[in-house]
Amino acid sequence: MKIALVGNQNSGKTSLFNLITGKNQYIANYPGATVDFLEGVSIDKTIEVVDLPGIYSLTPHTPETEITTSYLLNEKVDLIINVLDATTLERGLYLTTQLLDLEIPMVVALNMIDRLHDKGMKIHTKTLEKRLGVSFFEISAAKKTGVQEMLCDIGLNDFKNDRRFSIFKPHIEKVIDDVTRLIDFEHKRYYAIKLLEDINPFMHGVTLKQNELKEFNEDIYELFAESRYAFIERILSFSVSQLDKYDRRTQKIDKVLLHKWFAIPIFLLIMFVVYMFSVGFIGTRSVEYVEMFIEWSSEHLDAFLAQLGAHDWSRSLLIDGVIAGVGAMMAFVPQLIILFIFINILEATGYMTRIAFFLDKVFRKFGLSGRALIPFIIGSGCSIPGIMATRTIENKKEREFTTILTPMVPCSAKLPVIALFAGVFFSGYAGLVTFLLYVFSIIIIIFAALLMKVVFKVKRSGSYLSELPTYKLPKARYVYRDVVNQTWDFVKNATTIILLSSVVVWVLVSFDFRFNYGVPVEDSILAHFGRILSYVFYPFLGELSWASSVSAIQGLVAKEQVVSSMNVIAGVEGSSGLFDGGVFAFFTAASALSFMIFNLFSAPCFGAIAAMRVELGSMRKTLYAVIFQTSIAYVLAILAFWLFRLGGL
Ligand code: GDP
Repeated sequence: MKIALVGNQNSGKTSLFNLITGKNQYIANYPGATVDFLEGVSIDKTIEVVDLPGIYSLTPHTPETEITTSYLLNEKVDLIINVLDATTLERGLYLTTQLLDLEIPMVVALNMIDRLHDKGMKIHTKTLEKRLGVSFFEISAAKKTGVQEMLCDIGLNDFKNDRRFSIFKPHIEKVIDDVTRLIDFEHKRYYAIKLLEDINPFMHGVTLKQNELKEFNEDIYELFAESRYAFIERILSFSVSQLDKYDRRTQKIDKVLLHKWFAIPIFLLIMFVVYMFSVGFIGTRSVEYVEMFIEWSSEHLDAFLAQLGAHDWSRSLLIDGVIAGVGAMMAFVPQLIILFIFINILEATGYMTRIAFFLDKVFRKFGLSGRALIPFIIGSGCSIPGIMATRTIENKKEREFTTILTPMVPCSAKLPVIALFAGVFFSGYAGLVTFLLYVFSIIIIIFAALLMKVVFKVKRSGSYLSELPTYKLPKARYVYRDVVNQTWDFVKNATTIILLSSVVVWVLVSFDFRFNYGVPVEDSILAHFGRILSYVFYPFLGELSWASSVSAIQGLVAKEQVVSSMNVIAGVEGSSGLFDGGVFAFFTAASALSFMIFNLFSAPCFGAIAAMRVELGSMRKTLYAVIFQTSIAYVLAILAFWLFRLGGL
């Protein structure tokens, strides 16, 4: 695609050109040119850009105008980016109206928007877009804002100029149309106007009424120029205004919250507070209390049922299956409520949208929204609230991607698994190994995001500063309503999945194939599945181990169960004896690492799967997501195992 930057001198063309091309630029040798201009290729090599000499009109009186005009008329330009200095719009738009006559697809880059805002003014680009029939992008080439969004949109859309409003009076437009019809080469309207300006139109069989004749007898060039200015004056009166009180307040707050250097530290600090409160402070306590309550009520219920003479297995089904499963989910509800309160407040103040816009520049490279950072951070505590936090992402594809990626952030329940294996097989380096696994998971998330971006061909249109909400105080009523809705949404949708899956796993561990209840683990149905699955695990464990696959499956109920399941199967307490003989003795450093990696990235616990189901909105998509996560985990585990094995571990 070939793009020409056209605009007044000092409108910021060269600054924009440098941003687009980086170092890929060279001085153009245009035939007969006396003025130099630059040509270049965009950094991603998809766009050829030319920075044409700055001009004020298309009437060739100066060498600059001659080159720019002749370039636009004779070279095949796919798109004009008309660079305007937002602080001197009137002069810039004069050229814009002329460029439109060329009938080359065009967008307007409204540059120096920072200076305009500093002056306390704002431009309603929507009005300008409607009147001129071309897209406007608010950018600042100096502050580097809006440029990526503009380029992204240019890459995705075919821009067509859509001239609906006439610049000239109807009878003049009619004359132009008449002349246009006599021309059978490109840029008809431009040449028609040129002809009218330069030569006597009546020689070309154009007929005019008496009163129209009078106007054309005057200097036609002047007439056109005046009409253009009158048109511009009219549209500017609709579209430029002073910032109101709220805008000015927003500007002041932005100076701190969206500061070039402080924005990210401040954001991380806010997220840290949210995290500490919801996952940390409330989370750990609520899990503790709810679990205590469940234990207490389980005991009483068990005793009560025993009194009634209920069978062992029915008591166990109710207590170990139903209550344990649903209870585990209920334990997360208090922290979800706190999280939802925070997120809704941040959302209602307008901060979330503005910071997301700020972060977007980095994240959109991976096909993700700037808002994805929030689920990732929360997800490092627990995937369930992390996944529920994805709902602030408006774009559906990005929301779904983030939902699928969030469980791949190691949550705190995966730490015991890492701690166990790292402690035994990498003792002395356990901290380092844990840290490296976190770094590794970030790399894998980026990789997985890119993979999905390529596979699903995400297209997104940018969001622009002009559409960002101003800061305002949140309304308690709305926050309350949203929190209640979101919490209910989770409970309602998660219950079924969690209930079903916990009961299924309970049946699988409690019975053998003859449906005898209370058999040892190694005789259970699950162990049989484990034996089959052990062939699947073989490539990264180097051993057929039913016990390892059973533990991994039990990790689906809750990730911390991987360790307790291993303890139960091996019949030992704690990690000390776990690997000294018995079913887990085969583990080496290489298989320990691959097993950790598999548990880190494979399907999350049922609670998180249920949350994914809520956010993805369909069971089929949830299934695909789980398959995607588990496949990545599988491939990585195999790679890690063989790399380490070949490395002699
Ligand atoms: P050109 O003549 O159209 O190529 O304009 P330049 O790119 O040389 O820019 C003219 C001047 O405006 C330079 O001093 C730039 O640093 C400055 N400038 C360009 N874009 C912006 C912007 O978005 N904001 C501000 N504040 N200054 C800008």
